[in-house]
Amino acid sequence: MDRREFVKKAGLWSAGMGALSPLRSQEKPVESTREYYEEPAKKLPVRTFDVVVAGAGTAGVVAAIAAARRGAKTILIEKKGYPGGTVTEGGTALHSFFNLWKAFPGVEKRQVVRGIPQEIIDRLLKAGGTSGHAEVFIGDDYDSICTAIDTEIYKLVSFEMLVESGVRMAVNTLLAGAIVDGQRIRGVIAESRSGREAIYARAFVDCTGYGDLASFAGAKYAEPNDYGVVNSMGVGGVDVERYFDFLQAHEAVSNLARGLRSGRPGQIVRLDTNGKAFPAEFRAAAGKIGLAMTTTTVHDNYFMFIKMGLKMPVSPTSRDAVAEAELELRKRQIQAIDLFRKYVPGCEKAFIARTSPGLNIRRARLISCDYDISRSDVLDGRHFDDDVMAYGFHDNAPRLQIKNGGTYGIPYKALRVAGIDNLLAAGMMITSHHDAHMSTRNTVCCMGQGQGAGTAAALCAAMKCGTRDLPVRDLRDALVKAGVYFES
Ligand SMILES: Cc1cc2nc3c(=O)[nH]c(=O)nc-3n(C[C@H](O)[C@H](O)[C@H](O)COP(=O)(O)OP(=O)(O)OC[C@H]3O[C@@H](n4cnc5c(N)ncnc54)[C@H](O)[C@@H]3O)c2cc1C
Repeated sequence: MDRREFVKKAGLWSAGMGALSPLRSQEKPVESTREYYEEPAKKLPVRTFDVVVAGAGTAGVVAAIAAARRGAKTILIEKKGYPGGTVTEGGTALHSFFNLWKAFPGVEKRQVVRGIPQEIIDRLLKAGGTSGHAEVFIGDDYDSICTAIDTEIYKLVSFEMLVESGVRMAVNTLLAGAIVDGQRIRGVIAESRSGREAIYARAFVDCTGYGDLASFAGAKYAEPNDYGVVNSMGVGGVDVERYFDFLQAHEAVSNLARGLRSGRPGQIVRLDTNGKAFPAEFRAAAGKIGLAMTTTTVHDNYFMFIKMGLKMPVSPTSRDAVAEAELELRKRQIQAIDLFRKYVPGCEKAFIARTSPGLNIRRARLISCDYDISRSDVLDGRHFDDDVMAYGFHDNAPRLQIKNGGTYGIPYKALRVAGIDNLLAAGMMITSHHDAHMSTRNTVCCMGQGQGAGTAAALCAAMKCGTRDLPVRDLRDALVKAGVYFES
């Protein structure tokens, strides 16, 4: 049971959220062909760096800053025009910089992720782009802390931090291939309107979410297709307080956090409902389009991350299946906004203020690494001698918690892509077990992994060694110096 299923069990939409309204119309992944065109070989210009980070998303931003701050000549390759990734497009809020202390009497609340991820929040605070670390109440108490963000300010602030750190920003640039020499990656192929180029480096970090670099380089991977795809939208023109009053009058608030909103503390920044307040026709319609009503906000008249979901029959690496889902999700968004206007008090004039540029998913490719963090590693709070961070949140609390409200460690070996000498991975593409992944894939964990992987890549480049030859003591010392918090 994941968080969605928990909410459903708690009495939310009778249909839809858990089922995610599957898309059934197409079964064929990609149109097959018998005809082939032989692409002529071509000379590409070569640029040389110490570290290549692929993907400027949740993990990649932090990885590139970490590598560049260690003095590595670092390039960050991102297909969109801005950094941010799924943290600005998919999730409801950042979970979590803190441990899950509430379920364990006597356990202290403590911030367990610090370093560059916290620096980003500090910068966002100065720019008016976050709720701050807001305490969430679900029912009586179980949850931890969520940190809501202004997605647009996040994109700008992270871009500025990358440039200040000296990272070469290759945005609007697609990572399109890998140049492999035995077990080593020599370089990557990047494509932009400036042309196709080869980018050589000593160390590589795959933060594409989908493991594009690892798969181009021949790493082993699986495609579990165990989640629905989502496009989340920002809804403007709403009255947060009126909506809250309506839910409260029906005893229908199931999840609430207060923090900074439009510059004022103590305001509602996260709100969810058990659905009791809504008529059956609303619930049925919401269920059909996979509408989830959890929202966060950092502005008075705005709901962030209203999600429409569906379950694809094939993996979201199939271009044609994805095209169909993209269209279907956009249709569902329009249907959702009509439901808001008709049934949700405070939302009579609601409109779609933003959508994600493409569908999001909680995992696509699962990349094989030297170590696979297990369910019991997470739940028993296991630490390793090569930890790169501590983490203490689980997306399925209260059913699944880290033992005694503590933390587990993300070991460096879990970031080393199996079979390749100079490639690390960070983000949602690691950790095979569904329950373990429901912890490691959360934004703040991905960010911390990014700091570990970027720091390690810079050290490997400086020492001219492979990822398996890096002394873990040196990695730990560098991370401690950079403000990373450890519990072992
Ligand atoms: C619907 C949904 C809800 C969620 N809710 C929450 C939540 O409430 N709280 C929470 O903490 N977590 C939540 N998560 C999980 C979390 O947001 C993700 O697991 C995490 O952000 C993934 O980070 P990442 O760095 O692995 O990937 P991403 O952040 O997706 O970064 C990947 C980056 O790589 C780029 N890229 C990909 N391929 C290429 C290529 N070939 N060339 C160049 N660039 C490329 C992408 O454009 C992107 O910028 C949610 C996720 C989803 C999908």
